[in-house]
Amino acid sequence: MRLSSRLDIIIRDNLNRLPAEPFIWWQKTWWSRGAFLELIEECEERLRASNFKKGQRLALLMPNSPVLLATAVAVWRLGGAVVLIDFRSGYVPLIRQLCHADVFAALTYRGCEDLVPLISEEGIPCSVISLDTLDENIPGRPCAEEGEETAVIFYTSGTTGEPKAVPLTHDNLLDCIEGCVEHIDMLNEDDVFLNALPNSNVFGFLCGALLPLVKATRQAILTSFMPVESSMDAIKNAEVTIVTAVPTMIALMVGAVSRGAAVSSSMRCILSGGDRLPADISKRAAGLLGVPVLQGYGLTEASSVVALPPSINAVKPGSVGTLLSCVEAEIRSDEGEVLPQGREGRLWIRGSSVAKCYFRNPELTAERFADGWFDTCDIARFDEEGYLYLVGRACDVIFVGGFKVYAREVEKTLNEHPLVHEAAVIGVPRSISGEIVKAFVVLKKGERASAKELIEYCKKKLSYYKVPRIIEFVTEMPRSAIGEIVKRKLSKD
Ligand code: AMP
Repeated sequence: MRLSSRLDIIIRDNLNRLPAEPFIWWQKTWWSRGAFLELIEECEERLRASNFKKGQRLALLMPNSPVLLATAVAVWRLGGAVVLIDFRSGYVPLIRQLCHADVFAALTYRGCEDLVPLISEEGIPCSVISLDTLDENIPGRPCAEEGEETAVIFYTSGTTGEPKAVPLTHDNLLDCIEGCVEHIDMLNEDDVFLNALPNSNVFGFLCGALLPLVKATRQAILTSFMPVESSMDAIKNAEVTIVTAVPTMIALMVGAVSRGAAVSSSMRCILSGGDRLPADISKRAAGLLGVPVLQGYGLTEASSVVALPPSINAVKPGSVGTLLSCVEAEIRSDEGEVLPQGREGRLWIRGSSVAKCYFRNPELTAERFADGWFDTCDIARFDEEGYLYLVGRACDVIFVGGFKVYAREVEKTLNEHPLVHEAAVIGVPRSISGEIVKAFVVLKKGERASAKELIEYCKKKLSYYKVPRIIEFVTEMPRSAIGEIVKRKLSKD
């Protein structure tokens, strides 16, 4: 049973204990708990003096940094919420998100100075601050005051579609953290987490930054995972034990090691999430990095993690593990009927870590939330031991002559081809069949293959209507900040 349900109280209590203990590794040195608490207090004082009020929102457009975390804790202490926006999301979506979030002000850093006039033009005060101090008051504006329970608002587009705002409460985030810690039963107080995934993404924020703050364990903050060699040096120097990563980061580390980069002996485990982990990357990571990779599954609306393998010794190939105790799930048909165990269908979830609605979007809320349940739009099944397998995405379905094709199934088939590094599949409109399957393929370095060869391969493995009609070879995929493939940027021609 938790004594408090506010993040700021728990984090400040942790920092008040053993203030001289090293806590945050930033730019090659350790900050003590006391030094970090001082930064939180500085931020709090500045925000209070700037007239930031309970129930208001403050947008942070900056890389992972002590100031990002300290400002978040200060905002919570004042009863507000932070809106963590990906500062690389491009001017149009960024402004749209800022206006939708109705923020008191936006804080950014020197690397984004050119955004300031554009944001200010929309009437949103925007200040440029340093990444390790907040030593001046910030201009703000009146904005609506909502309840104090929301801690963070994330903007997400999942893998497809329009961005949506997910308000996560203190309880949602704390229950997800407790759920993860209790589930994997391998984290301990001496662990050092790598906080290198963008904190504008819920997985990066919760598993890389917030979990260690709440559990009073150390973290190494990196503004970026690139170049990968520097991250590997940081892992070694800060003696990182737990790396939270998306599959692209794991592939980058494997590549770096195969080119001669040294692996830190401190690393104990990699937690992979956010996207499908290709089996060959997982195998190569275990071999070359010498640590197990635990692939989990989650989404923003569930505060990040929904399922994880329960331990290093309980990983089933192709599965994303078992459900955290704070989450319940049902597999339902498209018509809403609950399907028996073993059947494939839409994954619905509910629980204390799951959001209750989208922020200021009643239409989308009505579409995805019903009777306390949330429709993940992921197609999945459970085996008899409760292990979860993801099959595809309901909104990533291609209709070929009336047949349903899950893009992920075709991608999985192509990814298994020995010459294919990575594949992404979309539907392309056609007057007769409705849609046809088009695949984008990145070949392994130095390899050659023809479209015909890959199509023949698919014909052996897939029903005829699932076989791609068009294959386009590309050198790389368009990706989001956390490395997910952005399919809407793939050409339908
Ligand atoms: P987001 O809310 O932007 O983090 O996106 C969540 C979506 O990412 C989920 O609904 C899944 O479709 C996908 N996803 C997350 N983890 C995995 C995984 N391990 N394997 C495949 N897809 C995943």
